[in-house]
Amino acid sequence: MQEFQGIVTDFWIEERNAFLLLGDHKISLLPYVGQNFSIDILDETMCLHCHKMGEELTRGECPHCVKRLAHNDLCYVVPSLCHFARGSCREPQWSQHICFQEHILYLSQTSDLKVGITRRTRFKERLLEQGAWQGLSLGVFPTRMAAGKVEKKLSEFIKDKTAWKKMLTEQDVALIDLVSEKEKLTSFLGKDCQEHHEHYTFNYPRLELEKTSMIKLEIGLGISSRLLGARGHYIILSDGFIHSGKLLGRKINLKIN
Ligand SMILES: [Zn+2]
Repeated sequence: MQEFQGIVTDFWIEERNAFLLLGDHKISLLPYVGQNFSIDILDETMCLHCHKMGEELTRGECPHCVKRLAHNDLCYVVPSLCHFARGSCREPQWSQHICFQEHILYLSQTSDLKVGITRRTRFKERLLEQGAWQGLSLGVFPTRMAAGKVEKKLSEFIKDKTAWKKMLTEQDVALIDLVSEKEKLTSFLGKDCQEHHEHYTFNYPRLELEKTSMIKLEIGLGISSRLLGARGHYIILSDGFIHSGKLLGRKINLKIN
């Protein structure tokens, strides 16, 4: 049996693997698929930004950091609302570095056909984060706002959100022809768009699901389950799904055998 204890500081998916950073341990999860996987939620939290202990957390951040950090502002999700030029950005230096770099506008297939944007350097990571079967870039834009404006236009007729339950439960779906979907959209891309073509496909092997509900994490909860797989932000157990964001900043004890 292997036992790990510590604060969860990160979770991410790579092609054919998933990782959990727990205290000093980087745990590679997929080799343990099929094994018993027990998590105890302990009474200790740490904000992943300011390291303050004992706060209520949202995706690993304390209430103060949730308010203070620009990535939590609505304009980060809806870049057409960018207010940097008005001087009211929460973290102008951070935004200058993040929002004012090249962004990719893309089509992906998660639960359905979806449109999205991400920094040019993290296209593949973003697709894996969303649990996409595949993703195709539509073009590159000079800033987050420029890409976001076109995304908003496209979201009038293409979804911009993933239905998590559908994404986690479906297997062996037919791949949508993203190249021909892209061809239909060329006239919407506008003058800021630079041509770009990157196409990725992924698969997410897992064991047969037993429960398809979300596991609610609370202090004192002990989950004794079996690891079935991982996809997007989720760890898939025989007792249901865990959203990794709910684990961030929490101290847990993990036993695998
Ligand atoms: Zn904090």
